[in-house]
Amino acid sequence: AKTLGKNHWKIYSDQVDDSERSDLSLESAMYQGIENGEFMLHYQPIFCAQTGQLRGAEALMRWKNPNQGFIPPIKFIPLAENSGLIKILGAWALRSACYQAKQWQNAGLKDFYISVNVSPRQFVQEDFLEMINGVLSESGLLPQNLMLEITEGVLMENPQRSGEILTQLHVAGVKIAIDDFGTGYSSLAYLKKFPLSVLKIDKSFVDDVINCAKDMAIIGTILSLAEGLNLMVVAEGVENDAQLGFLKQEGCNLVQGYLTGRPVHSEDFKDKYLA
Ligand code: C2E
Ligand code: CA
Ligand code: CA
Ligand code: CA
Repeated sequence: AKTLGKNHWKIYSDQVDDSERSDLSLESAMYQGIENGEFMLHYQPIFCAQTGQLRGAEALMRWKNPNQGFIPPIKFIPLAENSGLIKILGAWALRSACYQAKQWQNAGLKDFYISVNVSPRQFVQEDFLEMINGVLSESGLLPQNLMLEITEGVLMENPQRSGEILTQLHVAGVKIAIDDFGTGYSSLAYLKKFPLSVLKIDKSFVDDVINCAKDMAIIGTILSLAEGLNLMVVAEGVENDAQLGFLKQEGCNLVQGYLTGRPVHSEDFKDKYLA
């Protein structure tokens, strides 16, 4: 990151409105933040819904800016995506997460997998596969222990290119999860076309599932769809026992949420789950 050109993003003009101006300053702070090592990953555990056994973790990016404190990913990820900085951040996240997972495996977490979010722009970048292969061979993490989380939008916008990448990842043994499943404008056709491993049920379906017959029907349908297609399902945003009970009873494979574990710093993760 030290070799990044510092000037090419400076496109200030008096015409930019306030939101653009604040976007630009956040973007420049992001550059600075990369150089200063202000970005880190937190890890949220993913458990088997049936046995309660730890199965993996999702790596979630965190940015602690000295002036503004923690800036949430929903604020900086879209900016990073628009500016192209996501390539640097995304590659860094993948690398750190794979090394971390390998280290935890060595420390005793058997068959542990790491799930990493991949943004649309990052997914279709020319050297994406090279990067993945490089990170895997350098870290020593087995491809089947790496899960990449992508959204339906990527597959819809760029089906041809996505298909090629997914096929090559599949051949390499890397797993693919569809994040926020069911929330985008999507078709079911891609479930048949592409080699996928996991559907992640979005938190918005889990939130009210206990009181809402529609959410129950949606989750039940996703689960039977997944079963028929031989896909695993992760339910995210599980916050209480009633939700967990429902998901377990309906045969959901994996759960992730504040009930079972919040995203935490790697040191805390180690203390909590490698004891
Ligand atoms: P996501 O991929 O859907 O990640 C799940 C989000 O839900 C995380 O928010 C997580 O902290 C939060 N969460 C998990 N369990 C619960 C729960 O029980 N209750 C509640 N209220 N929230 C829960 P976070 O970490 O703020 O990340 C937000 C989004 O930012 C992510 O949504 C993802 O789209 C994006 N993101 C985060 N890290 C990365 C990254 O490294 N790369 C990319 N491309 N995107 C990232
Ligand atoms: Ca995710
Ligand atoms: Ca998600
Ligand atoms: Ca989500």
